[in-house]
Amino acid sequence: MPVGLVGGIRSFEVASELLEKGYADLISFSRPFICEPQLIRRWKEGDLRKAQCISCSECLLVGVKEGGIYCVARKKGRI
Ligand code: SF4
Repeated sequence: MPVGLVGGIRSFEVASELLEKGYADLISFSRPFICEPQLIRRWKEGDLRKAQCISCSECLLVGVKEGGIYCVARKKGRI
């Protein structure tokens, strides 16, 4: 059965190592994609800096309150 991992993975290096060592068959992202929908494209193009998401979780609250989700940290200029 394929195993997917999600939660707290923010760097290409960690994601790659988890796959290469066989700990998972796939890596899933949630908040990093809210913050940077183009994250995988950036990594594919060679910019392997870690995801910009700072894991503040403020996007989850606006998702509940406002019925839509976006990166609050980016909107407030914190990243
Ligand atoms: S609001 Fe915070 S947790 Fe949500 S995507 Fe932006 S930086 Fe990440």
